[in-house]
Amino acid sequence: MIKRHPEPDLLVEYTSGTLQLAPCISVTAHLQYCDKCSQAVESLKSLGGSMLETCEKSVVSDNLLDRVLDCIEQEGDIPRAETPRRTQDSLDAFARDLPEYVRDLLPAGALPWRSLTSSLRVAPVSVGEENYELALHRILAGGKAPEHDHRGMEITVVLKGSFSDEDGLYQPGDFIVRQPGDTHRPLAAKNEECICLSVLEAPIRLTGVKRVLNPFLGFSPS
Ligand SMILES: [Zn+2]
Repeated sequence: MIKRHPEPDLLVEYTSGTLQLAPCISVTAHLQYCDKCSQAVESLKSLGGSMLETCEKSVVSDNLLDRVLDCIEQEGDIPRAETPRRTQDSLDAFARDLPEYVRDLLPAGALPWRSLTSSLRVAPVSVGEENYELALHRILAGGKAPEHDHRGMEITVVLKGSFSDEDGLYQPGDFIVRQPGDTHRPLAAKNEECICLSVLEAPIRLTGVKRVLNPFLGFSPS
């Protein structure tokens, strides 16, 4: 059962389209699991629509619609790089059980997993985001992530398996926000590895004996 949800303010930003891409992706990932927040988003959309209807109308030029349509047509002519077609078979084996929405963000082929410790691996997910690092994290069954604190906000959405820390147990769909200065040490459940989607606003800093790993956690938005 999901115990951690995005704050209402974040859902308002999400619905109004003012949230940046990486946090937006984390909220969408949560909505794949959470009917309660999905319903809240639908209500906010209805509310936004009602508010728009009450706005004072502005006069626009007669040809504005034609100009907008022209812009859209020109956009369609821009040649785009061919991306390899992704199939279920070409996905990284660890990604096959993830929600379809998350799978659609991933490239074909093996993900560039990088070992941070013997039980923690990370694969960056490139979405063209400049201000946040989006990544998948895997903690092996029973494995511990290094204790670390945060210099910026970190959002974690559990996608598969579960992990716990000093504050509780987190299961698929849980949406955990860590603020700068928070310190914690995630521990995966013993029976299954844990896969999370993480959004990092600024580098995390390892504490304790694993401080030496800090250079491997450099901030690398993509
Ligand atoms: Zn929720």
